[in-house]
Amino acid sequence: MNPIWMNQLSWIDYEARIQRDHPTVFLPIGALEQHGPHLPLGTDGLLSAAVAFDTARLVDGLVAPTLSYGYKSQPKCGGGQHFCGTTSVDAATLIGSVRDAVREFARHGLTQLVLVNGHYENQWFLIEGIDLGLRDLGADCKLKVMRLEYWDFLTEATLADVFPNGFPGFALEHAAVIETSMMLHYHPNLVRTDLIPDEPPADFPPYDVYPTKKNWVPLSGVLSSAKGSTAEKGAVMAKELATRMAAAVADAFI
Ligand code: ZN
Ligand code: MN
Repeated sequence: MNPIWMNQLSWIDYEARIQRDHPTVFLPIGALEQHGPHLPLGTDGLLSAAVAFDTARLVDGLVAPTLSYGYKSQPKCGGGQHFCGTTSVDAATLIGSVRDAVREFARHGLTQLVLVNGHYENQWFLIEGIDLGLRDLGADCKLKVMRLEYWDFLTEATLADVFPNGFPGFALEHAAVIETSMMLHYHPNLVRTDLIPDEPPADFPPYDVYPTKKNWVPLSGVLSSAKGSTAEKGAVMAKELATRMAAAVADAFI
């Protein structure tokens, strides 16, 4: 099997691989953000990298180092910026990082780049970075870019199994059953199952206010309960994600 982590290759081996195999390169994107008392700050990037790695293995691709700082945490999907440890960047910074990455990967001769997003708040700034990067490169550019949020590849049937009492939606899933189960699968030694809070789901009004109100957000930072998380659920989701993302990659670059 070919090596998968780009940062473990020499430039000579990387160049040969690009020229010989035209591999798909995956760029995981995360955040440094509170994930309750039971998960580490780097959860979003750890999961996007793990899912990217499993997908790359199926399509003989490469995985670039994770962009590990994300856009500002929002109360309704990440708890907000008031937690110690949450370390975010301005939109312009994230857009600029993605724009630079697109331009640099195109310069290497890459033709297929996949941005694997693991942090809800990043989405539109990734789109902007891709758009500006491709605009910089011009019409002759051979690089094609795919962008995805990995959780969108979970099927309704799997969500029904993972949430026997009903799925609360991806926004409230912050540090809850999906992320906790997937961390139990990929990084069990980083999960403190003894500290999982058991609170009712956060209940937000249909508007935002600025400055944000801390008292809208549970003190733990968890937006819906992570009780019921298991490594087995994580394994089922991880397998489904990699399989379906690999199929999508094959489709997207035809
Ligand atoms: Zn997360
Ligand atoms: Mn996040």
